[in-house]
Amino acid sequence: MPESWQERFAETPDVLLGARRQRTTVPVLDFAVGGDEFVTMAGPCSVETERQLMATAHHVRSAGARVLRGGAFKPRSSPYTFQGLGREGLRLLAAAREETGLAVVTEVMSECDVPLVAEYADILQIGSRSMENFTLLEAAARSGRPILLKRGMVATIGDLLQSAQVILSNGNPNVILCERGIRTFEMTLRNTFDAAGIALLKHITHLPVIADPSHAAGHRELVPALARIGVAAGADGLLVEVHPEPNKAWSDGEQSLDFAEFDSMMAALKPWIALREAPTEEEKLEEHELAGLRLVEAVR
Ligand code: PEP
Ligand code: MN
Repeated sequence: MPESWQERFAETPDVLLGARRQRTTVPVLDFAVGGDEFVTMAGPCSVETERQLMATAHHVRSAGARVLRGGAFKPRSSPYTFQGLGREGLRLLAAAREETGLAVVTEVMSECDVPLVAEYADILQIGSRSMENFTLLEAAARSGRPILLKRGMVATIGDLLQSAQVILSNGNPNVILCERGIRTFEMTLRNTFDAAGIALLKHITHLPVIADPSHAAGHRELVPALARIGVAAGADGLLVEVHPEPNKAWSDGEQSLDFAEFDSMMAALKPWIALREAPTEEEKLEEHELAGLRLVEAVR
């Protein structure tokens, strides 16, 4: 990695792809995020009912997902909208894991809820609105669970790396970064999907990066295109909202895919994912350089 990036992100040395660090692969149940396998995380925005969650879990699993997403604690902009099922939602997520073998990712919003959420979830999600809640980050880090860290909607890449650094500094190496769109002057879509940000994160950090095309687009018809762009930019996986009946969803229905739409997106992504599996010349060179440096370290 050029020295200019090292200097630019000097405050977050532990997240950078340095000479002595291999890429981080985050172990989850019987697979890993950030390794050779492209990992799809899919499910409803919110856990609503047992029927809704179970049907979605079985469906996304059959289409190739590895992780079930679903919020039990929801950060809603309005206090008058659905706030999540809380503990009951966590219980349903764990039951879905039991039935399907999918791992569970779910958001934790408060430091006090970390022990409870960590008891049920395989991956703790830190939402956009919480990315800079450093006491929450510290508590989540200390739970020992892998962390899916979503980029704040007005956070720079540097800000995101600062938050990742806080987690690593609190003894938890298992951080997964997530690009979910940022606020810009362009207001037509919900957010602006920062594909270059994904490419940059893959270029300068050793952490896995997940693309969330659902929150980036805000409209279901654009989700497959943004997913494709995420894969092409180098993402290690996707976080996608799927609902049996998006028009009846209690949150984020307009950006949720129905089952048929999810299937067709997954089928269309296959060739793109296959392309990603072949290392580029640059990656081969990078691996070669890393191997050389490790050898020098070893004989020292
Ligand atoms: C979500 O994943 O449902 C969510 C609330 O995402 P974000 O924090 O990115 O808005
Ligand atoms: Mn959502």
